[in-house]
Amino acid sequence: MGLKTREEYLESIREMNPTVYMFGERITNVLDNPRLRAGIEATAATYEIAHMDEFRDLVVTESPLINEPVNRFTLPPGSIEDLVARVKLNRKLGNYVGTCHQRCTGLDCLSTLSIVTYNIDQKYGTNYYNNFIEFLKHVQKNDLTGNAGVTDVKGDRSLPPHKQPDKDMYLRVVEKRDDGIVVRGAKAHQTGSLSSHEIIVLPTRALREGDEEYAVSFAIPSDTPGLIHVVGRSSLDKREIDGCDIGNIRYSKYCPTLIFNDVFVPWERVFMCGEVEFASQMVVTFSAFHRQSHGGCKAGKIDCMIGAALTLMDYNGTSKASHLKQKVIDMIHRAETLYGCCLAASYEGKKQPSGTYYIDTVLANASKIHEGKEMSEAIRLMVDVSGGFVSDLPSDKDLENPEIGPLLKKYLKGVDSVPVENRIKMYRLVEKMAMESADTISDIHGGGSPEAHRITILRETDLEAKKRAAKRLAGIEE
Ligand SMILES: Cc1cc2nc3c(=O)[nH]c(=O)nc-3n(C[C@H](O)[C@H](O)[C@H](O)COP(=O)(O)OP(=O)(O)OC[C@H]3O[C@@H](n4cnc5c(N)ncnc54)[C@H](O)[C@@H]3O)c2cc1C
Repeated sequence: MGLKTREEYLESIREMNPTVYMFGERITNVLDNPRLRAGIEATAATYEIAHMDEFRDLVVTESPLINEPVNRFTLPPGSIEDLVARVKLNRKLGNYVGTCHQRCTGLDCLSTLSIVTYNIDQKYGTNYYNNFIEFLKHVQKNDLTGNAGVTDVKGDRSLPPHKQPDKDMYLRVVEKRDDGIVVRGAKAHQTGSLSSHEIIVLPTRALREGDEEYAVSFAIPSDTPGLIHVVGRSSLDKREIDGCDIGNIRYSKYCPTLIFNDVFVPWERVFMCGEVEFASQMVVTFSAFHRQSHGGCKAGKIDCMIGAALTLMDYNGTSKASHLKQKVIDMIHRAETLYGCCLAASYEGKKQPSGTYYIDTVLANASKIHEGKEMSEAIRLMVDVSGGFVSDLPSDKDLENPEIGPLLKKYLKGVDSVPVENRIKMYRLVEKMAMESADTISDIHGGGSPEAHRITILRETDLEAKKRAAKRLAGIEE
């Protein structure tokens, strides 16, 4: 009970017994698998920093619900200060782990449910908000991590859920019982599902009449019977399994496909069941929160990329080259614009009927559009500054080989005062930050594809107000 240490978190993950497959094999010891461990360690950092002087004030906050100190990743925002702190914390963490720490999605689900379950109850007199609050107390008291089960596999994108030839292409309720519901379907790209104690499911899109069985939200432990985690391939995963040329000493990211093979959910864990018109509110609210989280964390990752680029300039003897300094400036302003946009989204937040604070959607989506384009530009600049060894540095195994190792160490040296091993390590980090597909692809598709951000911006912006302003200046009266 209370705030977990890193070790207590790791132990709590060890105690779980999820069904997991990776590279065609069943994995029974998740925590000691080097590929999964690196991902779990990134989430463990969110527990570790709660006990570090440098971070404690940002991470640890008081929950008005249980009147105890909690980790901020379990607290739906209750003020503008909370919204701002989310962004600052994500930036610090992105910088600390250099990849995705995987814990923001759970908070984004909790924040969404704390708004939308209340609204559903107001309209239908249902009991979802109470279910959610009981779940939230459990999460806060036990300092749990949640995973966002949002993205359905979706089958034919041109068809709504109920018109798919295979009705299971969107997760749905296949049975309603006195004690709960049975659900079937699959969620793709489930960031950190095995680093999580709970899987929190929300619908992936707006739904209409006819889609009632797909309008479902709930939370279940990640080792619930019938839940199957199939860990995805990622560009550098084999290196973690081999234990060499890894690049980032401890942290990584993985995104399983999650199959719900007729999974039972008790009613007290259900947060929506059939209220189709609220699916859209769930998705839009989650996406806006998640796009804000991304901006903070990706600004923190650019900070690491800037640090790596500057270090390689020192190691390569190029630190005085003015065109490289210009490129570093171009990286810095991209990080700060992203950060600034997410801070602005927070400062413009508004209190919702349930009491939770919600960010400005247009600003949050503007930041995600910026991320989709500018993260890859920041990566391009980092690679430009660093040099070609980002791509094809000899393996550590060659460096340790008694015949060619000494020759490689001689020829891979940069400036004389820097040990060759340090130069190699920094190149590996740059390679990891540039090419870790599980993380870099999320710059574009994580939290929804770019077109989804653009559509939200268009829908949420007051276009008529802009026209009125222009007409007034032009002297047009209608
Ligand atoms: C690294 C990574 C981590 C992720 N983590 C999570 C997570 O933790 N939890 C989670 O739930 N999801 C997660 N996602 C999923 C992410 O939200 C989706 O990838 C995103 O919403 C896009 O969905 P999709 O991949 O199915 O692509 P698609 O929906 O197939 O989109 C591909 C392209 O087609 C376009 N398109 C699709 N349908 C239509 C249509 N009907 N009409 C016109 N254009 C269309 C899209 O705009 C896009 O450009 C993650 C994704 C990535 C890559």
